[in-house]
Amino acid sequence: MRILIADDSTVSRHLLESMVKKWGYDVVSTSDGVQAWDVLQQPDAPRLAILDWMMPGLTGPEVCKLVREKAIEPYVYILLLTSRTQKEDVIEGMMAGADDYVVKPFDQQELNVRLRAGRRIVDLQSQLIRAQAALRHQATHDALTGVQNRGRITEILDESVAEAGPLGVIMLDVDRFKSVNDTHGHAAGDTVLITVAERVRDALGTVDAMGRFGGEEFVIVSRREPEDLAALAESIRQALAAEPVVAECVPLQITASFGVASRPDGAECSGHLLVKSADEALYQAKQNGRNRVCIAKVPALEGVA
Ligand code: GH3
Ligand code: MG
Ligand code: MG
Repeated sequence: MRILIADDSTVSRHLLESMVKKWGYDVVSTSDGVQAWDVLQQPDAPRLAILDWMMPGLTGPEVCKLVREKAIEPYVYILLLTSRTQKEDVIEGMMAGADDYVVKPFDQQELNVRLRAGRRIVDLQSQLIRAQAALRHQATHDALTGVQNRGRITEILDESVAEAGPLGVIMLDVDRFKSVNDTHGHAAGDTVLITVAERVRDALGTVDAMGRFGGEEFVIVSRREPEDLAALAESIRQALAAEPVVAECVPLQITASFGVASRPDGAECSGHLLVKSADEALYQAKQNGRNRVCIAKVPALEGVA
């Protein structure tokens, strides 16, 4: 673990450096408060800091205050080093945002165990951040295919509606998918869904987002112009049909039907209306024989030019 040591006294700083190195820390050291504050603002800043109280530029408590005010993330555990022993000083240091303090001259073992306590806090926070990220991923992604789930893609669509410019939705539904399950089993069906999601994702660019809307139905939200969106749907259709999907060692010819709906130029249009229109076009594609793309005519909302 990396640790920042900020102390303007060369002797004291070198002593601290050699001590913490011996305990296995990687040291970043500075001799004034401004440098310390610079280091702590770096993206990959040390998560543990020992700050001397009196330093040129900024004092230890002033650096603490800045770190806490700016809510530097991830959390920096700060230990103040001071020769002040008055209760008021300690209170002032802790009020400034220090987590702990050690009085100079300090006992080596005491400093060691206090740093260990700090490391526990830092490690716990890392675990918490990882758990939060995992939960966020779980809450927004489909477990089978790894693409975004219905909730998240709907959110993306609703956010996109608020912005001007081209916007559209492609809905696609795998053709006769139930027969894959019925004939080859559910596991083969799952493999087909994973492969379909992969092939769709490979066809997308940075202006497109995709999600799994339901069973074998996927949605693409895109900022492409209407003609380009229709062309994208057609190229995905071809990419799916071009090569069989190998599921449980059996090559399966898979196709999908597509409905495409674009927001009329300059008109207001809800996400819900785009999805509904794309869904109706998809239904039309199924009616017309599947493995095809149908384009919806999206009505401009009343009162909007
Ligand atoms: P169509 O061409 O009209 O779309 O026919 P279809 O058979 O694709 O449509 P239908 O809605 O009748 O069947 C969809 C099937 O998808 C039924 C359901 O059991 C299956 N399904 C839904 N989710 C999953 C999944 O996660 N894994 C697997 N293996 N099957 C799923
Ligand atoms: Mg289907
Ligand atoms: Mg379906």
